Amino acid sequence: MNLLILRYLSKVIFITLLLLVNTSCIDSTKTKNEEHYSVLFNNITTIDAEFGERRNQYVLITGNKIINISKKAIVSPSNCIIVDGKGKYLIPGLWDTHVHLTYSPELEKSMFPLFLANGITSVRDTGGLIDRVLYWRDKSKKNPNSSPNVFISGPLLDGIPNVYDGSPGRPEISVALDSPEAVRNMIDSLQAKGVDFLKSYEMLTPEEFKTVISYSKKRGLFVTGHVPLSMDVIEASNEGLRSMEHLRNLEMACSVNFDSLLNARKKMLAEGKNSLGGMLRSQIHKVQRLYAIESYDEKRANTVLKSLAENGTWQIPTLALLTGDINRLYENDTWKETFQYLPPEIRSNWIKKAEEKQQKEINHLSIAYGQWGLKMITKLKDANVKILAGTDTPISFLTPGFSLHKELEILVKSGLTPMEVLESATILPAKYFGLEDVMGTIDINKAADLVLLDANPLNDIKNTNRISGVVRNGIFYNRKALDNLLKKASGLE
Ligand SMILES: [Zn+2]
Repeated sequence: MNLLILRYLSKVIFITLLLLVNTSCIDSTKTKNEEHYSVLFNNITTIDAEFGERRNQYVLITGNKIINISKKAIVSPSNCIIVDGKGKYLIPGLWDTHVHLTYSPELEKSMFPLFLANGITSVRDTGGLIDRVLYWRDKSKKNPNSSPNVFISGPLLDGIPNVYDGSPGRPEISVALDSPEAVRNMIDSLQAKGVDFLKSYEMLTPEEFKTVISYSKKRGLFVTGHVPLSMDVIEASNEGLRSMEHLRNLEMACSVNFDSLLNARKKMLAEGKNSLGGMLRSQIHKVQRLYAIESYDEKRANTVLKSLAENGTWQIPTLALLTGDINRLYENDTWKETFQYLPPEIRSNWIKKAEEKQQKEINHLSIAYGQWGLKMITKLKDANVKILAGTDTPISFLTPGFSLHKELEILVKSGLTPMEVLESATILPAKYFGLEDVMGTIDINKAADLVLLDANPLNDIKNTNRISGVVRNGIFYNRKALDNLLKKASGLE
């Protein structure tokens, strides 16, 4: 037989087989596959920080893993959802690396559905009372199909007076530790309960902070945190601080007069030791922050950033939070539309607070700090300091889930490329937890946590908002299923 005819015949047989197999497939318009069926994305563009942009790909998921990626059509197994990927983009599931699941009790139940509906398949909780955050981490482990992965630090390890002490406006999410011994006992008890990492806070003494780092290292845990007010950033980084939140107290370290600022802080801390922690901290920032920003010294900043890079002290700048008074989301009608997905009591409370905030005088210090934070992003990037995307939701009108996309947008505005920003929300957080072999890119054997987009995020990072599907733990949520999650979050279902 002629070779051409043979080729033609085998093609016909292949297509017939494909059609036969596909008839046993589930329609992708079905809201979600409750069982572990397979999901096949046909002819899709995949984008991730390792492989870049790959067009015309076929991606097969079975169970909770990606089991095949090919440039050629893949024969779909039985019980498979088929998604037409033409004109669509697949990115790895996103991380919000700075959340507080238990900050507002009325909001707790809505957090998981809001995250999933926004393509966030992993979160790092950076502070909550241990039994309460454990409740949500356990829930996530038991029901991975309907929860993001959850990593917890437990409470903020703070000194005396502690900042988040349960006083008005300061929910009780910290513990007050008064000695290195108290630090060690607390770390022992948190590790016994199964925390994933630890978070140190601003009121620790240098001795207590050093104990937090050295003892946790001994116990195989790492520490993120706010640099204690009693220490310089370089000193804290040299001790082995794994990461810093909100660029906190970095502004003081980058001042030409960083050493006299530190001495003045130590004096204020000693004098204020009988005040409320939250008040004392605000007072110190009020006195020092603007001066620090205005006396910013490039040479000193370079020395500080070099230390951060060499020590591997990563940064979670939480720009959506820092630029709160620049971007003024509380008076942005489009942003306020996201409040409709909050439970009723939170929604009305946020609307009321947003109105109050609009009436307030312009906070020049907050604006200056935000502008300084934006400026620091390219400096961190040039110094090779790693950046993770995180928000601090639900603080400061940052609607869970939606706010991560705002963070990505601001990171691009401040100088990262869209690909670098995707990296900061996918593979870098995975590396931070040593999980880069199991998640963070679109690769065979990696977790089936993915986001399906209607437009290319590399052309415009805002396209990460255009979500038409999410895969979590191998379960495919189409748009309708995601809308149902939003309804659930708002208490309508
Ligand atoms: Zn926080």
